[in-house]
Order: sequence, then structure tokens, then C-alpha cells
Amino acid sequence: MKALKIKKGDTVAIISGTEKGKQGKVVKVFPNNLKLTVEGINVRKKHTRARRSGQKGSIVEVALPVNFSKVVLICPSCKQKTKIGARFAGDKKVRVCKKCNQEFE
Ligand SMILES: [Zn+2]
Repeated sequence: MKALKIKKGDTVAIISGTEKGKQGKVVKVFPNNLKLTVEGINVRKKHTRARRSGQKGSIVEVALPVNFSKVVLICPSCKQKTKIGARFAGDKKVRVCKKCNQEFE
């Protein structure tokens, strides 16, 4: 299986769909179905039901997962949308920005 190059905490840009151009921080990665949730992206309002009588249901906003194919990484160093390579620094695998050649975890 191809290693996923985007991790939790990365900043990504949306490159297709209705939210194209937006950026956000990766909140969670779902490697099994190649999806991820991004802060503020694909947010839907969700109604929650009252758990007890006398309590009101409420509306919460949740970010739904988007496909990996819809996002690109924003390089933490040069702040550009970039493709990511991989390289070994000693015995540790690091990611490399293909634009500025900067290594990062
Ligand atoms: Zn870079």
C-alpha cells in the first residue's frame, strides 16, 4: 500500500469541488478509505437528538471527510501548494517539499 503523505496537523488546500481554494488543518486521517477531515472544510450541520426528555436537541457543525485526491499539502516552509517526496535522514524517513526541497516530518 502506498504510504500516505499527509498527516494530522498538516495544512492542506482544497483543489477541487465547491470549496476549492480553501485551506485548513488536517484534523484526522482515515488511511483505510483514503479520506481525511480538515478543519472548516466540508462542514455540515448535524442535528443531535435529545438524549433525555426535557433536553432539547441541538445543532452541531461537523467536518465531514474529504478524499485525499481533493487536497494538496501546503509546505510548512515555503507555504506553497506542493507535492511531497520522501527521503531517509539517517534511518528516519522524512518528507521533502518538491518546491523548496525542505525536509520535514
Ligand atoms: Zn516548500
